[in-house]
Amino acid sequence: MTVHLVGAGPGDPELLTVKALRLLQSAEVVVYDRLADRSIVALASPHAELIDVGKAPGHNTPQDMISALLIHLGRDGREVVRLKGGDPFVFGRGGEEALALAEAGVPFTVVPGISSSIAGPAAAGIPVTHRTVARTVTTVTGTCGNGADAPEWPALAPLVTAGGTLVVLMGVANRHRYVHILLAEGVRPDLPVAIIERATRSDQRIVRTTLDGLPDADVSNPATIVIGEVVAIGDDLRSARLQQCDDVVADRRRWAIRHR
Ligand code: SAH
Repeated sequence: MTVHLVGAGPGDPELLTVKALRLLQSAEVVVYDRLADRSIVALASPHAELIDVGKAPGHNTPQDMISALLIHLGRDGREVVRLKGGDPFVFGRGGEEALALAEAGVPFTVVPGISSSIAGPAAAGIPVTHRTVARTVTTVTGTCGNGADAPEWPALAPLVTAGGTLVVLMGVANRHRYVHILLAEGVRPDLPVAIIERATRSDQRIVRTTLDGLPDADVSNPATIVIGEVVAIGDDLRSARLQQCDDVVADRRRWAIRHR
């Protein structure tokens, strides 16, 4: 009788909330799109009806059709899970779906999920805030990096210059535009940048570059882009961990030699 707008997290099924898993296993209908990992959709009850509403670039079910579908299923008296990548209310258009359901008088709940804006950097070992380095973290969409239609970009430059972390979602296609704005506003061209593709999934990939190298970096969707000094801390952490692994291996070898 209820539509649940459920955050599916960034991809790793173990990053689902307990509530998300419970609702998924008891739903009669699961409505999902490309951002919900298939291994998560597979956790639905075998009796559930699965509806793929696509949403790949160039292959979209229009948002109002998705909202209309949710209203229809809810009015039908079915227990519906609308699975959304990450958190439903972080650039997921979950707010629009919630408004449409509210206006139609269909009961709904919102189940928060781990957003890729947090999980992406964490999966790359990047702390988005760090004492004495980054006191702010801003999540921004890179969809319209075109000056007049994206007034926030010039305003973000001083924050970045002051050490703040910028996390860009949907930032692959327009990266040359917003990088141009940041550089024109005086942000350091050699500021470190990390791009985390398919964060927390088995094929996760991390690309390291600098702000002026970002436009030409080899990147594919979905990707979370982190701009700021904290990226260097992530590098230190990763190499320290590798160092630790090397130490462990060396230690085991020494032990093996002693006990031969
Ligand atoms: N509601 C989602 C964001 C939806 S917007 C959330 O909270 O995560 C879609 C954008 O999210 C993508 O363009 C990409 O920037 C980011 N994204 C989603 N899943 C991702 C993943 N597994 N790895 C990296 N970025 C991801």
